[in-house]
Amino acid sequence: MRRIAIDMDEVIADFNSKHLKVYNHDYGDNLTIEDLKVGRLEDIRPHLASQIIDYLHNPLFFRDLEVMKDSQEVIRNLSKRYEIYITTAAMEFPSSFNAKYEWLREHFGFLNDMNFVFCGDKSIIHADYLIDDNVRHFDRFNGQGILFSAPHNLSVTGFDRVSNWQEVQQYFLKS
Ligand SMILES: [Mg+2]
Repeated sequence: MRRIAIDMDEVIADFNSKHLKVYNHDYGDNLTIEDLKVGRLEDIRPHLASQIIDYLHNPLFFRDLEVMKDSQEVIRNLSKRYEIYITTAAMEFPSSFNAKYEWLREHFGFLNDMNFVFCGDKSIIHADYLIDDNVRHFDRFNGQGILFSAPHNLSVTGFDRVSNWQEVQQYFLKS
């Protein structure tokens, strides 16, 4: 079976909505997803960059992210024809491990725990496809990178791109 590696944040877990919500609440701001098209939250509010990043070190931050629309259903379907691995660069926020693991168990419990890969540098991942919102992970990836649209990558070109999970389904039905 061919393997599909799938990123977590901004691909199956709605990271931006939670980050915006807690930031807007705490700082009385009203930034939206649209605002993130010009830069990441910490880039558009540089004077608060360290506080904005600090949220991500909270061990509970990643525990209650919303699931990206249709991701469960499509991954469940794909898992019948492909080996599915969830690959997250969790080393960027080591305090997130437990929350991410519990989140995966809650929302993607139909996958085997052994298919959850918490890593640092994703170039170690050996798979046929990698679905990710960060193109840097494709640099040294040997398989086919598939860019999952996120506000920060909308102007990036040169990659196979999907905008939502229905498009992921279409992509793999064709291949
Ligand atoms: Mg991501």
